Amino acid sequence: MSTSFQNIKGTFDILPDAYTDGGTRIASSAEWHAVEETIRDVMHRHNLEEIRTPIFEPTELVARGIGQMTDIVSKEMFAFERSGTNYVLRPEITAPVMRSFLQHHLEQRGGVQKLFYIGPCFRAEQPQKGRYRQFHQFGVEVIGADDARADAETIAIMMSVYRAFGVDNTTLRINTLGMPEARAKFVNALREYLEPYEDDLSETSRRRLAKNPLRILDTKLDYEQEILADAPVLTEFVEDESREHYVQVKTYLDELDIDYDEDPLLVRGLDYYTRTAFELESPDLGAQSALAGGGRYDLLAEEIGSKQPVPSIGFAAGMERLFLAIEAAGNDLPEPEGADLFFASLGEEAEHWVFQTVHRLRGEGLHVAHDLKGRSLKSQMKEANRQNATYAIIIGGNELEAGAAQIKHMASGEQVEVPFDRIVDYVRDETANVEE
Ligand code: AMP
Repeated sequence: MSTSFQNIKGTFDILPDAYTDGGTRIASSAEWHAVEETIRDVMHRHNLEEIRTPIFEPTELVARGIGQMTDIVSKEMFAFERSGTNYVLRPEITAPVMRSFLQHHLEQRGGVQKLFYIGPCFRAEQPQKGRYRQFHQFGVEVIGADDARADAETIAIMMSVYRAFGVDNTTLRINTLGMPEARAKFVNALREYLEPYEDDLSETSRRRLAKNPLRILDTKLDYEQEILADAPVLTEFVEDESREHYVQVKTYLDELDIDYDEDPLLVRGLDYYTRTAFELESPDLGAQSALAGGGRYDLLAEEIGSKQPVPSIGFAAGMERLFLAIEAAGNDLPEPEGADLFFASLGEEAEHWVFQTVHRLRGEGLHVAHDLKGRSLKSQMKEANRQNATYAIIIGGNELEAGAAQIKHMASGEQVEVPFDRIVDYVRDETANVEE
């Protein structure tokens, strides 16, 4: 069977079975589910609550939140207009969460709001391994906390997620960006330093020199890195208060035995960051090595209309890259569970009985499968295997007369006769014994 339609480049389907797309393994829906469950479990253990926001937002929110000059806003947004209003598919989830926090006055719940999310994001980037146009992020926002413990705890939560999947080969880089005044002074100094080298810079960096020189620090080009070797360093411009905060963050990270590298060149691509910034990388991931990143965004709330400052910190992480890192670490993903019981039927009368019984047993809580195509017994048993069913039962005229059938344990081939009214108990007891 076929169609002339294809999923859009830079997106992918998540199917019942894992498959390979352009050399990348796309996990099965059951694997996605299991990975999301583990993430939720880590989040709950850290006393976080889930928040879900719409996948589209007003363009204005995203542009003001992330910053007009960033790559995301200036060239990577999927935008559309309807009845005079401009919308974008969300490229990230921090600005939407802050909008939601402010709109619903979540501060009235009292204390610090510790929120997490999992969901799709959209960016019109050039697709490649680990980089999609629709991808999925999970992340944390700790809203209303100025204390350096919030920074260290946010980083600790991020590290715990990767530990839960046995992904240990990672590098955590941290930096302090200071407040915007410090950054503005630094940006001027950086621009002054780079201007004499303008002709030696790549076209991208020349453009950034005019618009957003901070982004030049992200360059992967050797000759640009050489030029940057003697450039002014942001840390030297950072005010005392941010510096003191940074020292505290490091002390708390030390208390939790979290290793980090200090990287004075780490600036992050989004405008809203203040003070603490961090990034988690994996050397196993190739060009797209960033697993997760985050930082403080003490000014975002005011940027999107709050009268009061709302000091906050968070991180965002890519699900697709988490899958790549789990694979690179050689760790198994959880096996999807098959049906408890598969019913095969022989003859029309049996088909009716099976059809009703399957429905009834499902109502009693068993995971039950059967054939909907009226195929041969052999094909039905093949299907039981494919579905990884624990037990199979064949129902024909004889079984209906006897009110009992052979129940076959698929893995061992062992068969036991069970009266119809004992099927549920038998499957339950046996599965419980295996699990013990
Ligand atoms: P950012 O908001 O850019 O810091 O992104 C946070 C994390 O999301 C990154 O560290 C990546 O793991 C992931 N990510 C960002 N953009 C993409 C993309 N286009 N495709 C897949 N993952 C992405």
